[in-house]
Amino acid sequence: MLVSTKDMLVKAQREKYAVANFCIWNVEMLSGVMKACEKLRSPVILSFGSGFLVNTDINHFIHMMRSYATQTALPCSIHWDHGRSFEIVSHAIDIGYNSLMIDGSAYPFEENVRITKEVVDKFHPLCIPVEAELGHVGSETDYEEALSHYMYTKPEEAAAFVARTGIDSLAVAIGNQHGAYTAPPQINFGILEKVRSCVDIPLVLHGASGIPDADVRRAIGLGITKVNIHTELCEAALSAVETHEPGEGYQALNIRVRDSVQQRAEEKILLFGSDGKADGWFEK
Ligand SMILES: [Zn+2]
Repeated sequence: MLVSTKDMLVKAQREKYAVANFCIWNVEMLSGVMKACEKLRSPVILSFGSGFLVNTDINHFIHMMRSYATQTALPCSIHWDHGRSFEIVSHAIDIGYNSLMIDGSAYPFEENVRITKEVVDKFHPLCIPVEAELGHVGSETDYEEALSHYMYTKPEEAAAFVARTGIDSLAVAIGNQHGAYTAPPQINFGILEKVRSCVDIPLVLHGASGIPDADVRRAIGLGITKVNIHTELCEAALSAVETHEPGEGYQALNIRVRDSVQQRAEEKILLFGSDGKADGWFEK
């Protein structure tokens, strides 16, 4: 059942768990994630962004995402991740997404406010919830190098950013980074606590693949209600490829990949505490 990301996150915030935002771009990832959610009765955010356009034509893949989202009984939304312009997120909504992130985090504060507010003003009347980012979660290859010039979310700016833009959820930069960590992640929980005390909307953790379970649990306890996972799904798929036996055939490989993605997705759902949270959703 296609539902609003906002509704999912408000419920998660109230009940102190997080909803998984699985970034997926092929049918093995999509079906593996959905099997995990069905098995554990978890709400889910299916996510896709510009970085995946190099290997997936979204004008076709959106139909598969929507098909899964509309035919499941689970609460499910289809989210455009890291939209870096008004045109990009507009296209995403035009082709069938019902949730979006506008990412102006590479710009100075005032420009980030302007771009984000423009998107909120356009899409809130269409009941499309909007996520934005303050500070900057990068994608650099060397994590320690990235930390030396890391742009943390400034708690004092967060309240103004949320008030001026009207966003529904806020992605925070607290030492998290996209891709694989080349050194142990150093999550700044002090900043997260301060941001939480400044704003009351759901908070989002990007780059969560590779962050130790205890740190993820602690972040959820401090107000993270949406956790983005991509790299670990890719790692699960790759580990399945490595176990492929010669002569086994491509179809068997596909099944191994799907099953491995499912297993990793199940681990994340249990970690985030969203298992069972789909039950009773429509009885409120
Ligand atoms: Zn991200």
